[in-house]
Order: sequence, then C-alpha cells, then structure tokens
Amino acid sequence: MILGHAHPDVMAAVQDAASRGFSFGTPSENEVLLAEEIVSRVEPVEQVRLVSSGTEATMSAVRLARGFTGRSKVVKFAGCYHGHVDALLAHAGSGVATFALPDSAGVPTSAAGETIVLPYNDVEALETAFAEHGSEIACLITEASPGNMGVVPPEEGFTEALRRVTAAHGALLISDEVMTGFRCSRSGWYGLEGPYSGGAPDLFTFGKVMGGGFPAAAFGGRADIMSHLAPLGPVYQAGTLSGNPVATAAGLATLRGCTPEVYTRLDEVSRTIADAASAALSAEGVPHLVQWAGSMFSVFFTSEGSRPAQTGVVRDYDDARAQDLPAFGAFFHSMLDSGVHLPPSAFEAWFVGASHDDEAVGRVLDALPAAARAASA
Ligand code: PLP
Repeated sequence: MILGHAHPDVMAAVQDAASRGFSFGTPSENEVLLAEEIVSRVEPVEQVRLVSSGTEATMSAVRLARGFTGRSKVVKFAGCYHGHVDALLAHAGSGVATFALPDSAGVPTSAAGETIVLPYNDVEALETAFAEHGSEIACLITEASPGNMGVVPPEEGFTEALRRVTAAHGALLISDEVMTGFRCSRSGWYGLEGPYSGGAPDLFTFGKVMGGGFPAAAFGGRADIMSHLAPLGPVYQAGTLSGNPVATAAGLATLRGCTPEVYTRLDEVSRTIADAASAALSAEGVPHLVQWAGSMFSVFFTSEGSRPAQTGVVRDYDDARAQDLPAFGAFFHSMLDSGVHLPPSAFEAWFVGASHDDEAVGRVLDALPAAARAASA
C-alpha cells in the first residue's frame, strides 16, 4: 500500500469503476491504460499481460519461457520466493546446483524435479549449473533484488552475470519485480540498476504496488516472446478476472499517485526509521546489519560468530538463516506491544508508505529503544 490505506484518489477511482460494473470477462479500458503505464515505465517491457496475482504472473512467465524455448528446466535461487507455484516452491540446496525437493506438502517431487536451486550472488555455482544443464534450461527466474530472505541485493555485476550466462545458453532471464516493481523507483529495481550492459532481462513480473491493494498483477517483456501467448501463439494463458476493471482502476490511480515527491518521501522516511533502529540496537549492543534495495530495507540480527557477522554482509540465504531469530522475535513483539506492526518475519523486507507522516514515524522511533532492549535480553 505504497500510498497508504484507502487513499482518497484510489478510493474515488475504485468507486467510479465499481459503479459501472465489477467484471466483464473481456478487456476493459483501465486494463489497457494500466498496461500502457507499465510499458511506459519499464523500458524493456514491450508488451504486457495482466493477471490477478504475483503467483499467476511468475507461473505464466515460466510457462511462456518453457513454451518459447521448448525446454523444461527452471533455475531459481535459494531464498527467493516467487509465489506458490509448484515448480518454484523449492529452495533447498547450496554450493553447486542441487535438484530441489519441494518445500510444501502437496507438491509432488516431479513438479519441483525440473527446478535447479542455486545460492544467490554466486557466479561460480551459476556457471557450473549452466555448464552441466545449459541446453535443457528454459529460464532463470530471480527476484530483481531479493526481499524474501530479507533484503539481499545483487552484488555488483551479479545481474549482468545472470544475463551473460543465460544468453550464452539460450535460456530466458525472468526478473521478478512483484515486490520491487514501482516501489524501488518509478521503474522498479530496473530503474535503479538498469539498463544492463549485456542487455535487459527477457521477461518481467509485477504485482503488489501495481494493484493498489486489489488483485492485479502482470508479466511482460520482449514482444517476440510475448507473441507466443494464446491466442496469437501456442502457450495457453487466460483468466476470467484478469484485468478486472475495479482492480485496474485502483492500480492505475496508485501508479499515477506515485509522483517523484512520493519516492523522495519514501527514501527519507525509510532512512530515518532504519537509522533509528540501528542506533537503538547499537546502544543495547545487539549485533545487526541493515541492507537496502531502494527504500526497501531489512534489519538482520546477526548471530555472533556467524559468517555475516564476520563479513559484514548478508549475501545469500545461508547467511540470512544464520540470524538470531529469538532476538528478532523479542524485538518484533516489543514493537507490536507499542502499537507498531513490523513485518512478522526476520526474512521479510520493511516498506514504508507515503502516508507515514511525521506523527506515525515518531511513534515508530519512540518504540525502538524498548524493543532493542528486549532483543538484547
Ligand atoms: N514474487 C515475489 C517476489 C513476491 O514477493 C511474491 C509475494 O510475496 C510473489 C511473487 C507472489 O505474489 P502473490 O502473493 O500476489 O501471489
């Protein structure tokens, strides 16, 4: 909710759309306008198709990549979450490539059996996996800048290495911007890190911010790939509620409300909160690291003696899992007792919204010293 809950402009757009009909099962004007807004913001996205959730976006992008390349294997990174797609619900494995076991009951081993899981920020593991399986790999999907193991941004040159290695083996690169899209900048993570020297990702996925709190998400990218989708091409994809007129009205009003001033404010507020959290934890001697992706950040409670405590950086899922989880739990519950609802897991990103005014920020800052004390106990 980048603009805050029940923002008046979004509310007005939703009411106006709803007064004219909830669902038509056919393209609607707002759907086209929202698609145009996305295409105008993220330069490599030439065509876009709307769906109703981030899960549908990644699932459809992977199917499209498989249909386009005629290959079946998918590469993902440990600690990256792409929704509850069977083939992507796998993160086991470290070191070199590991054939993944599903993380959830109800996912047959065969569904995740074509998924290769690699450690993030590890170019050697990437090259090894592609050297072994390159001709069978349809795509590599990555969070543009991971936020689902806490914020673990790509190291300098890592995204470019993904582009280089996938292109060398004829595999597609899918950048999952469901979390970062239109949040890290008006063009998402791509707006901060791109354009890349070796070329842009082939496909992108979006969700969250672009739906303004309603079920709207999207995938898009190179037109020659998108034209493989039905009805033009052989890759089936559809959805009764996709491009829903009320959801797209909310999304459009939200994106239009994300002015340069809004992004500046998000940057300022997130810095203020992160700096204060870090100062409060330091004052209590609680080991921690703060990591950033645009205005998204995470506070990692680094256990003494762990690799991130020694290196000063959380660079992959193993590092993220080396956290002092009880310290995070104590911190979280103290904040909650003071009326501040942080993301309820040590593996999530902290977001601020444009409605976090000075009074709201003040309440967060006031709650921090006691929470830091609780974490130190
Ligand atoms: N991709 C990323 C990077 C996400 O963070 C999420 C949700 O947290 C998804 C995909 C799935 O989106 P949804 O929950 O809308 O299905």
